[in-house]
Amino acid sequence: MTLNLKTFPQQDENLETKGPYKVLILGGGPTGLSAALYAARAELHPLVLTGLQIGGQVAITYTVENYPGFPNGVGGPELVELFQKQAERFGAVLEFDTAVEADFSRHPFRVKGYNAIYEAETVIIATGATPRKLEVPGETEFTGRGVSYCGTCDGWFFKGKDVIVVGGGDSALEEGDFLTRYANTVTVVHRREELRAGVLLQKRAHDNPKMNFVFDTAISDIRGNGEVQSVELQNLKSGAANTQDIDGVFIFIGHTPNTEIFQGQIDMDEGGYLKINHLMETNIPGVFAAGEAADPHFRQVVTSAGMGAAAAIQANRWLQERGG
Ligand SMILES: Cc1cc2nc3c(=O)[nH]c(=O)nc-3n(C[C@H](O)[C@H](O)[C@H](O)COP(=O)(O)OP(=O)(O)OC[C@H]3O[C@@H](n4cnc5c(N)ncnc54)[C@H](O)[C@@H]3O)c2cc1C
Repeated sequence: MTLNLKTFPQQDENLETKGPYKVLILGGGPTGLSAALYAARAELHPLVLTGLQIGGQVAITYTVENYPGFPNGVGGPELVELFQKQAERFGAVLEFDTAVEADFSRHPFRVKGYNAIYEAETVIIATGATPRKLEVPGETEFTGRGVSYCGTCDGWFFKGKDVIVVGGGDSALEEGDFLTRYANTVTVVHRREELRAGVLLQKRAHDNPKMNFVFDTAISDIRGNGEVQSVELQNLKSGAANTQDIDGVFIFIGHTPNTEIFQGQIDMDEGGYLKINHLMETNIPGVFAAGEAADPHFRQVVTSAGMGAAAAIQANRWLQERGG
């Protein structure tokens, strides 16, 4: 492929340059922390740029019931703290910085953060994904004032209130179920005629007396006065619209991969997910990708962690083959 290479503007040269590291890991979620553990145990002294959210999406997940080794489930924040401790025990270093530009046209590779420029012999991209927006009027205005993308974080504010959960997948039902601890009612609004979530979650949701469902329907407007007061619901089959009073709107309609800064350098699909082979290799030798940044399909802690481990094993082999 032809590389559209990004190089750093002159004024960035006054940032301190750190490295070169043998392994630079971009992302501090389950993928990045698992990669860090494996790279650290191979004595590669990895540096992890955590981005804004140490622990990634799991840090905002109330409980994880499907990560092996925890028969009674484990709190999301607790799980990623354990990931972090284990990686650090073997020498991984976490840096609270975000990659804003990457230059893979030269070797060692260069990644620019807010605090420094990082040079590295190999890079593992583990930048994960971010919740997708509805893109309707009122959504941005009321974010943090009734519109939320995280039930675990914001559920407490809706004690005794009525909320809508938008979506029909696992996250929507898991979070909806969690929200019933606080909210009076949780109405799941889904644009299709049936849910996509797993059977167990569907059963749990249907059995929950606080949860109800509106199908074939989308939110077309979020309204309020300083905070959310109502939404306009539109039936996608009949076209009929009606206004529903509501205190909160929780949106769980999928994710967008955090891969924009790699555009033009790393091959990606039309959704922005990085293209990798079974060895977690991207189109640039020495640059690996893993987890939700490269996986629109499985999207689990265990699969992301597995991919992160595989990327680190492969980075080690890549270095060894070059006498590193
Ligand atoms: C509400 C909710 C509930 C879930 N429940 C479960 C569950 O019960 N079981 C399960 O298996 N999975 C669950 N998941 C999915 C699971 O959280 C993800 O599959 C997993 O977190 C993906 O890991 P990741 O490390 O690839 O990405 P993420 O978790 O998205 O982490 C990405 C990391 O990259 C960092 N980052 C982003 N951009 C940059 C940048 N430019 N530079 C540096 N760092 C950057 C972020 O700060 C973050 O640390 C849930 C997800 C959500 C949202």
